[in-house]
Amino acid sequence: MLYSELAETLDRLEATSKRLEMTTILADLFRTADPDELKDIVYLSQGKVHPDFFPQKIGMADKLILDAIGKSDEEVRKAEELWVKIGDIGVVAERIKTRPVQGTLFQFGSEKPEMGTVTVKEVMSALYKIEETAGKGSASKKNEPLKMLLKRMTPLEARFLCRMVNGKMRVGAGDMTILDALAEAFATKEDRPAIERAFNVTCDLGFVAETIAKGGMDAIDDVKVSVGNPVKVMLAERLPSVEEIVERMGGECAIEYKYDGIRVQAHIGKDTVKLYSRRLEDLTSNFPDIAEALRSRCRFGEAIIEGECVAVDPDTGYMLPFQNVTHRRKKHGIDDAVRDIPVRMFMFDILYKDGEDLTLRPYLDRRRALENGFEMGDSIQMTTMRIVRSEEEGREFFDNAVAARCEGVMAKSIADNSVYRAGNRGFLWIKYKKDYQESLTDSFDLAVVGAFYGMGKRAGKYGALLMASYDQENGRFATVCKLGTGFDDAFLDGMPDLLNGTLTKERPQIVDAEMVPDVWFEPHVVLEVVAAEITLSPIHTAAKGVYREDSGLGIRFPRFTGRVRDDKEAEQCTTVSEISEMYEMQTHDSDGLSE
Ligand code: AMP
Repeated sequence: MLYSELAETLDRLEATSKRLEMTTILADLFRTADPDELKDIVYLSQGKVHPDFFPQKIGMADKLILDAIGKSDEEVRKAEELWVKIGDIGVVAERIKTRPVQGTLFQFGSEKPEMGTVTVKEVMSALYKIEETAGKGSASKKNEPLKMLLKRMTPLEARFLCRMVNGKMRVGAGDMTILDALAEAFATKEDRPAIERAFNVTCDLGFVAETIAKGGMDAIDDVKVSVGNPVKVMLAERLPSVEEIVERMGGECAIEYKYDGIRVQAHIGKDTVKLYSRRLEDLTSNFPDIAEALRSRCRFGEAIIEGECVAVDPDTGYMLPFQNVTHRRKKHGIDDAVRDIPVRMFMFDILYKDGEDLTLRPYLDRRRALENGFEMGDSIQMTTMRIVRSEEEGREFFDNAVAARCEGVMAKSIADNSVYRAGNRGFLWIKYKKDYQESLTDSFDLAVVGAFYGMGKRAGKYGALLMASYDQENGRFATVCKLGTGFDDAFLDGMPDLLNGTLTKERPQIVDAEMVPDVWFEPHVVLEVVAAEITLSPIHTAAKGVYREDSGLGIRFPRFTGRVRDDKEAEQCTTVSEISEMYEMQTHDSDGLSE
C-alpha cells in the first residue's frame, strides 16, 4: 500500500470526532490492505511502530525533524519560525512542502515524478532505522532516513510522518475504534466481543488485525495467552460496604488483603522472566530480585502470574506505603534500591502454565495452581486470603487487613463462572478500601488535560489543572473538575517538567471540554485525587445529559493526594461509568450544582 493512502485516511479521521464515522473510514482502509501489510498499517495509524508493550523509541527531537524538513538553510530557518508559531511539527512540514520553490518553473508531467510513491513498507523500514540510531550516532545519521522519505512525499504525507517521528500523532483512533473497524471490515457486530478478547489477551492490535484478515473468526477464537505477550489486567468494581459485597457475591466469597504497591504481571519463560506493569511497561530491570526469585522458585517450565510488589521495612518486615516501592522505578541506582528497600511480591493470580490457558478456569482452581506452582519464600508469597460467609467475617478480615497496613480488601467470586476476565472491570472482583469509610467517595485517578496559570503566590507557575476521566463508550476524555489544592511547592515547581512534554496549542481531539484552560495537554499524566462528592455540573462534560439535560458530572472539592499514578496510562484512569456509579451510590440527594 502507498503511504499516501494511509495519510489520506488519517486526514479524514482528523476531520471528525464521530466514532461511527471513524470506524467506517478505518474499515474501508483495512479492507483494501494486503493482509500481510495490515499489522504495520494498524501500528502506523496509531502512530506506533510496535505493539504497546515494546519500548517505543520513536520520538525524534524537534530540532532534528526541523533540519530534515528544510532542504536548505533558509528553509530550516523558516521551518523553525513556523514551529514556534504553530507548535505542530506536522503542519510545519506540510506548509514548507507546499511553498512554491522560488525560481522554479512548474512543468506539468516533468516535476518530481517520484512524489507520493513511498510505500508503507518503506516507511516502516525507515522508522526501524530511526529507532536503531536513536540515542547514538551523529545527528545527520539520525535524520537521514527521514530526509530521504520526505523528499518523495506530498505535503499531506509529510504532515503525518513528521508528527509520527515526533511521537505526537494527534489522531484520535483509539484501540476501541480500531477493534470496531476490524469487526466492520472482516466480521460482524456480534463478533466484536470475541475480537476484543483476542486483543485483551495479547495486547497487540496489529497481531489481532493480521489474524482476523488472514484466518477470520476461527483464528480469532483460537487466540490464547502466551508467555511474552502481556495480558490486559482484570479490574475490580467497588461497593460501599462489606455487607453489600457479601450479598452481591451470593453470601460467600474469597476475600484477600488489598496491598498498596505496584501490580506486576510476570511472564516466566524457561530461562527468562519478564515483568510488566499494568500499563505494559517492562519493569524487569526494576525488580531483578523478584524476577530471579520467581524463576528459581517456580515449579512450572512456563507461567504467567500476577501479584502486587510491596516495599517492606528491612528491620521490622512491616509493609511500607506505596511511595517506597516507587523508588524501584527509578532508572539509576537499582542495586542500591534492591539492597535498601527490600520488596515482596504477594501473588494473587495465575493466567497460564505449561501450555495451559487458565484464564477461563474458576478462581479457586487458579489459586490452587498458583499455590502448588511455587516454593514460597521471603520475597514471594501468596496474598492473605480466606473464604467468608457473612458480613461479620468480612468485617473482621477487613480490620485485620488495615492493621497489617493494607489499603483494604479485594473480594473475589468463587462461583463456577469466576474466570479471569482480561481487560475487564466487573463484579467478579470487588474492592473495598479504608478510604470509603472516611469520605463519601473513593479516590479518583484523573488525567490532566489542561492547566490555568497561577496568580498571587503561584504567579509564573501553573496554579490549577483541568482534570478528565475516560469514557470507554466513545474512547474520549471528559472533564470532571478543576484541581487547585493539595499541591506542595515541590510539585508546583515540578509541574512544567511533568506536563510540558504533552503540551498542545489546541484542545486535543480526544478531549471533550467546555471549560477552557490557558494551556492544553494531551491526556497522559494521571494524578490521584480525593474529593467530597460528585455533583451535577453545568460546565463539566462527563456523562453530559445523562442525569440532567445540559449537565454533566463534576467532582466537588477535589484535592491532589500527592500521588502521581505513573503506573497508569491515561486510558486506565477512573472512567465516566465508574464516576456515574459512584454518583448513583451516594445516598444523599445530589441536586447541587458544582463549578
Ligand atoms: P485500584 O487501583 O484501586 O483500582 O485497585 C486495584 C489494584 O489493587 C490492582 O490493580 C492491584 O494492583 C491491587 N491489588 C492489591 N492487592 C490485590 C489483590 N489481593 N488482588 C488483586 N489486586 C490487588
